Amino acid sequence: MATVHIIGAGVSGLAAATLLAERHVPVKLYEASTHAGGRCRSSQHRSLGTVDHGLYVTSPADTQWQRYLTRIGASDATVTFAAPPLPRAPLADYAQALLMLGGHGQVSQLPAENWLREGWLAPWVRGIFGQAMEHMPVGALRHQWRRLCRRHLAMAARQASEDYISPALSTLEAWGGSVYFGHALSKLEWDGARPTHLHFARKKIPLAPDDIIILAVPGPIAHGLLPSLPVPLPMQPAITVHFHSLHRETVPSLVFPVDAPMDMIRYSAERMSVSIRVATRAWPRSDGAIAAQLWRALQQLHPYLAQLPTPPHVVIREKQAGHTVAPLTPVDAQQGAIILAGDWLDPLQPATLEIATAHGHRAAELAMAQLPQKHRPTQQHFYLNSRN
Ligand SMILES: Cc1cc2nc3c(=O)[nH]c(=O)nc-3n(C[C@H](O)[C@H](O)[C@H](O)COP(=O)(O)OP(=O)(O)OC[C@H]3O[C@@H](n4cnc5c(N)ncnc54)[C@H](O)[C@@H]3O)c2cc1C
Repeated sequence: MATVHIIGAGVSGLAAATLLAERHVPVKLYEASTHAGGRCRSSQHRSLGTVDHGLYVTSPADTQWQRYLTRIGASDATVTFAAPPLPRAPLADYAQALLMLGGHGQVSQLPAENWLREGWLAPWVRGIFGQAMEHMPVGALRHQWRRLCRRHLAMAARQASEDYISPALSTLEAWGGSVYFGHALSKLEWDGARPTHLHFARKKIPLAPDDIIILAVPGPIAHGLLPSLPVPLPMQPAITVHFHSLHRETVPSLVFPVDAPMDMIRYSAERMSVSIRVATRAWPRSDGAIAAQLWRALQQLHPYLAQLPTPPHVVIREKQAGHTVAPLTPVDAQQGAIILAGDWLDPLQPATLEIATAHGHRAAELAMAQLPQKHRPTQQHFYLNSRN
């Protein structure tokens, strides 16, 4: 049977791989680094143990993400937070915001004097979508509105790698898929329009004529491998700082502070985790300076922390956290013989776990439709009729 070769074990590649393996399609997943998860992952640190590289917030309205979690048996691996209630703002401000939502252009066209702009929308747009107001198109916000209107937001109950990634690898393995770490694809070899070999640093893997390739790598890397792809969108950095928790409240909570140097804070019994999703300005500063500034901001929010020195902390930098949304045409997932996946295919939508898994699932469906008829998996149903 034809094999589907998937390049990149981020959530998009994992969504594609687990869906295909579930349908009994032979899958080989190649990952450049020594771990899966890509931009959704956790790492070990001497001072604080395992910490996440971002405060990955999702919504129960993220249907493709929920589908992925269900498939890997992790649908109850999340902790949910009640979303903040609608703020008390003048009715006229709401009317203006609704008019803006029905139109076109950027969200930042909402006038500065509208209370909802900086007091409500900006922290959400930065914290959840990782976009500055001036880059967030109204159309994208409309598309994402369901997420904001849900009464709950969700995060990994323990850590992203443990809750979202390891179960996917176990599921894939249980269904017969193979994962190859330390395999960075450097080149595709072609015979006319057909790819014949995958080139990695130390080996070259031949492809059978019916084999299919899914490229689930970030936009800039996909462009390097397939130069005919549109030039990738500019990427922006994110910084997450985890402090050893000195917070009095031990119930987990999620806060979107207004007028603060951070976009989101997650409080748990062990940590106070602070995220700057749009970190272009903070990026050149040293880790120490960033941690000190964020600790001062936390002290302002919680006066009882005021006399305490900066606790042990870990600063995590992600230089290319996600793209800046832009009013460009989406990239076609089917590029000749190659199928694309990843969070960057629709430049109008911010990079999210929902978008990444949606494109992973779409790539798997395209691959299944492309398998030769005789190899195509069939859904099998077993009916057990009760005799009573
Ligand atoms: C700090 C931060 C905070 C975030 N917060 C949120 C949030 O709150 N909510 C939300 O929904 N989303 C959030 N996101 C976005 C979300 O994490 C990403 O959109 C998603 O993880 C992207 O998945 P992907 O599979 O498309 O890409 P990636 O995760 O980048 O996966 C691509 C994989 O391909 C591998 N690779 C690259 N080149 C090669 C090669 N040549 N050969 C083989 N493998 C290769 C990479 O190592 C990587 O594992 C956040 C991201 C960051 C960085």
